[in-house]
Amino acid sequence: MNNNHRRQRSLADRVQDVTTTDLRRLSARCQEIGGINLSQGVCDLPVPPEVKEAAHKAIDDDKAIYTNIAGLIELRQAIARKMKNFNGITVDPQTDIAVTVGSTGAWACVAMALLNPGDEVVVFSPGYYYYLDAFKMLGATARIVDTTPPDWKYSKEELAAAFNEKTRMVIVNTPTNPTGKVYSRDELLEIAALAKQYDAWIIADEIYEYITFENDHVSIASLPDAQDRTITLSGPSKTYAVTGWRIGYAAGSAEVIDKVLAVNDLFYICAPAPMQYGVLAAMNLPQSFLDQQRQEYRQKRDMLADALSAVGFVPHIPQGAFYIMADFGPGRYRNSLDAAESILEQTGVATVPGTPFCFKKGEGETMLRICFAKRFEVLEEACRRLQQLET
Ligand code: PLP
Repeated sequence: MNNNHRRQRSLADRVQDVTTTDLRRLSARCQEIGGINLSQGVCDLPVPPEVKEAAHKAIDDDKAIYTNIAGLIELRQAIARKMKNFNGITVDPQTDIAVTVGSTGAWACVAMALLNPGDEVVVFSPGYYYYLDAFKMLGATARIVDTTPPDWKYSKEELAAAFNEKTRMVIVNTPTNPTGKVYSRDELLEIAALAKQYDAWIIADEIYEYITFENDHVSIASLPDAQDRTITLSGPSKTYAVTGWRIGYAAGSAEVIDKVLAVNDLFYICAPAPMQYGVLAAMNLPQSFLDQQRQEYRQKRDMLADALSAVGFVPHIPQGAFYIMADFGPGRYRNSLDAAESILEQTGVATVPGTPFCFKKGEGETMLRICFAKRFEVLEEACRRLQQLET
């Protein structure tokens, strides 16, 4: 169309600052050069055969139509059982669970159901920046609480100061992407007490709940003060290596889930039907599957940490999830983006700059986030390649 005839159009204000991230670009470049991608949090582990078979069978059996907007009742029942046994949270599968398009879809619906423009959201930094960018689009603003290495503790004073009358929500991601912080019961009690004092919602992102090393996972919704005000988000993406299947869930009080489902219906209708059957099979896998996975991730964590130490990086050993935040110190690279780009070109290993995960300007400039959710042989090769970096 001739430019003169093009109607004057403009984008919505809410997307002016939204862009796809360096992470996606580095992944694309990694693919272009046939590198090893330790940037995105996608596990390339094989999906357990019985899980694949259940999804195949659902397709073969023409389970091709919309499911209930809340998800298959059998799946919600399995989630409720798992939440009781593993998380210590009692939820009613009929009213308190929404199966969604990934836990990202759960977050989108929860955010739309709970946030108004002008609301404040307390978030911990470093953290999962998708949340921050998403609630900014809804007109909410962030109150940032720093956590600092090596153990990623926050200051009680800073946390208390982040809450005020405008606080609508606090987001707790445990284990945390990117630091691997596993919040202790005491920390969660402290956060729950503040949320209660200021009558704020708690959003608990527990997508890495099964991947912990030294300390066990504690769900904030299992604490009495937090029970009624917490929406727990999770899903099978990381645990069963099905990030592309796009199944997740939100669980919490019926009053909130009812609205989450109304939003879910408007934007997605329901989560992919055959994949819900596959995930149902995943949830019936024996405990030994989870135990073995946890042990293997621990070995992988240690392997990557050793490789990073050998080239003079300081790996902050994570307590959970499958990333290491590694500090390469001042002077070695111009900044964290330069480090990620140089390492990719020099070794063919993709990592992500630390900066997007650090919400205060200027932080994270000497850090990289490196993912170890890879098959052993792939991670071994990546570690070998990283040895090309001079110390
Ligand atoms: N929450 C956190 C903290 C994550 O790191 C990720 C993915 O990297 C997600 C949520 C997205 O999970 P899902 O695949 O269930 O949308």
